[in-house]
Amino acid sequence: MVTIIDNEVAQTCGMCGRESYLELTDSELEAYKGYLAGGQLIQECLPSLNKCEREFLKSGYCTDCQEMLFGNGESERIK
Ligand SMILES: [Zn+2]
Repeated sequence: MVTIIDNEVAQTCGMCGRESYLELTDSELEAYKGYLAGGQLIQECLPSLNKCEREFLKSGYCTDCQEMLFGNGESERIK
């Protein structure tokens, strides 16, 4: 389940249960809300984020689990 506090998106990883955070800019947050409302692809809503960051917003998988699952666990922004 996604939690948004101010501009920070928190998600609990479905694989390992760890909670991770990603701070979005105002415009990214607007775009993310548009994505959550449905009907758009996340890569079209948030082109400023990398694959790992978009996957985190979509599925909640943490960087470690993404690295294990898809080999793309790199993000400077996910804490
Ligand atoms: Zn994880």
